[in-house]
Amino acid sequence: MNRISLKEMKFFGYTGCLPEEKEKGQYFFVSIDMLCKEIPGAVTDDLNATINYAEVYEIAKNIVENNKFDLIEHLAYQIGRSVISKYKLADQVKVLVRKPDAPIDGEFEAMETEITVSNKEVVIGFGGNMGDREETIKEAFRAIDGDSDIEIVKVSSLYETEPVGYEDQADFLNGCALLRTYLEPLELLHRLQKIENDLHRVRTIKNGPRTMDLDVLLIKGVKMDTEELTVPHPRMYERAFVLVPLKELGLYYGPIPDDKAVKLYGKINFN
Ligand code: ADP
Ligand code: MG
Repeated sequence: MNRISLKEMKFFGYTGCLPEEKEKGQYFFVSIDMLCKEIPGAVTDDLNATINYAEVYEIAKNIVENNKFDLIEHLAYQIGRSVISKYKLADQVKVLVRKPDAPIDGEFEAMETEITVSNKEVVIGFGGNMGDREETIKEAFRAIDGDSDIEIVKVSSLYETEPVGYEDQADFLNGCALLRTYLEPLELLHRLQKIENDLHRVRTIKNGPRTMDLDVLLIKGVKMDTEELTVPHPRMYERAFVLVPLKELGLYYGPIPDDKAVKLYGKINFN
């Protein structure tokens, strides 16, 4: 990986658990490593095609000087998030925060933490069977595209599929997309749920008709099972309407269950 770093920037700030730390403040030393698969500016000598470290310096300075967090971990995370949201070029931002004057009796060089924020590949599945299905899918992608925290890498063709589970309803249009985002898994789920709601999705019957269903299928390097979010999606490997578009995107190579017809419908025309 290519790397751009800012080392040992010294700022005065107020992060700390103790009231005296929030009142009197102390010095913090911040180092930032930005790892990028590609830095086009390395080839072209163009400042606009790399990360401007003067701007990164200002981002870190502002966050350290203007916040009173309890934890240096959170301070480091906030810096990482701000940097990666400004510079999509970065695949990973590592932020090291040192506090040499932490109010602890005894001898030490510094208390320090390193937090990494990364852009991750995420696969989502989408589908709907009410109203103008194609238009609703386009609207959903316009909304995703309009979210500056999410990048659309590629979108599969649309597939027309028979309903699964509750069968007395219209056929669905389904597909999958590969996204890139530094959002936390739950943040991403909530963004997608907001888009579903904005498209007037009403949840009535389980597996029943819907204008738009957006599911998180896979997040690279993430396995989780909480009440709100399970990743990988627990039912994805049983569903041909998920696996067929995944295969098209080169993200799945295994067998496809053949109980339900999945017919190629066409490409999304985003215009
Ligand atoms: P389904 O997608 O199974 O038809 P819903 O879209 O109504 O049903 O989702 C029901 C619940 O599933 C949501 O409230 C959400 O919290 C939960 N959920 C768990 N894991 C996931 C996931 N990977 N993607 C989307 N929703 C999930
Ligand atoms: Mg869903």
